[in-house]
Amino acid sequence: MGSLPPFEYLEPSTLQYALYILNRYGESASILAGGTDLLVQMRDGKKTPKYVVNIKKIPQLEGIRLENEGVVIGALTTVNKIHESNLIKEKFPALHQAAGVLASYQVRNRATIGGNLCNASPAADLAPPLLIYEAKLKIAGLKGEDEVPIKRFFLGPGKTVIEQGMILKEIYIPTPKEHTYSIHLKFGERRAMECAIINVAASISIGDSICEDAKIALGSVAPTPIRSENAEAELRGKKLDEEVIKRAAEAAAKDSKPISDIRASAEYRREMVKVFVRRALHSLMIESNMGNR
Ligand SMILES: Cc1cc2nc3c(=O)[nH]c(=O)nc-3n(C[C@H](O)[C@H](O)[C@H](O)COP(=O)(O)OP(=O)(O)OC[C@H]3O[C@@H](n4cnc5c(N)ncnc54)[C@H](O)[C@@H]3O)c2cc1C
Repeated sequence: MGSLPPFEYLEPSTLQYALYILNRYGESASILAGGTDLLVQMRDGKKTPKYVVNIKKIPQLEGIRLENEGVVIGALTTVNKIHESNLIKEKFPALHQAAGVLASYQVRNRATIGGNLCNASPAADLAPPLLIYEAKLKIAGLKGEDEVPIKRFFLGPGKTVIEQGMILKEIYIPTPKEHTYSIHLKFGERRAMECAIINVAASISIGDSICEDAKIALGSVAPTPIRSENAEAELRGKKLDEEVIKRAAEAAAKDSKPISDIRASAEYRREMVKVFVRRALHSLMIESNMGNR
């Protein structure tokens, strides 16, 4: 086990002061939230910041609250708090489920939603649910705040629209319309402490016994978590049945652009997209009682 390289530790207690420090030290400073990604990267020599800026003492960045017909989650809210929130469980079941399968209970006690998104792993478990719920991310900088739809947030592995000197402040999730059903499925080799080989989030909105709207998001099958627009198009305006679900699953596999790595080959991942999108849609069809309408 390697040790951490030397660094100076800073602990601002206001957002404004944290932004000031980050802008003053530029590239040589790194934000620390739960540290479950950053400290591993520092130990492995992949990141060598001279200044580590712990933002955990900034109270306004933590918590879950109702706002404007939706829910706001502070960037420092831990994955366990999200999993245990009744509000999240009731309004955003796919996010509740994803939070429950990220790493282990101990890691989830430290890991934050902001860290999961800003680390920008293609396999980040919380990204696909936030993509189907069309979350908006509030980013703070010295010059003010900006709101970015999650669809535009990820630029590549480890890369987001957040520039040096900015902090992800909170995540706004609009409440889905009535009769919307959603699910998250993760496929890994083990049941816990496993980054996803693939993960899928899906939602359908039902009206007049047809699927009025559908959202499918995939993780671990492209340089960033993605929405599968072709799969969504296969579902919109249709009554779900085995054939429609099969076509949507095939479209999702076509939209994915996986690579081969130590965990799985590209071909296997593409095949698993088919299997898991089908499974997800099948569950939603049963939950919405659509098969019997
Ligand atoms: C054993 C183990 C198992 C894991 N398993 C999984 C898993 O199954 N699924 C999964 O998705 N992840 C997994 N992870 C990765 C990690 O736990 C999550 O990505 C976690 O949510 C990161 O949050 P954090 O608060 O610890 O981030 P940190 O490590 O503190 O930060 C991560 C990155 O984001 C930046 N950052 C953090 N907060 C902000 C902010 N508010 N604004 C701007 N930048 C910010 C940091 O500078 C850093 O670059 C695992 C990690 C470990 C160690």
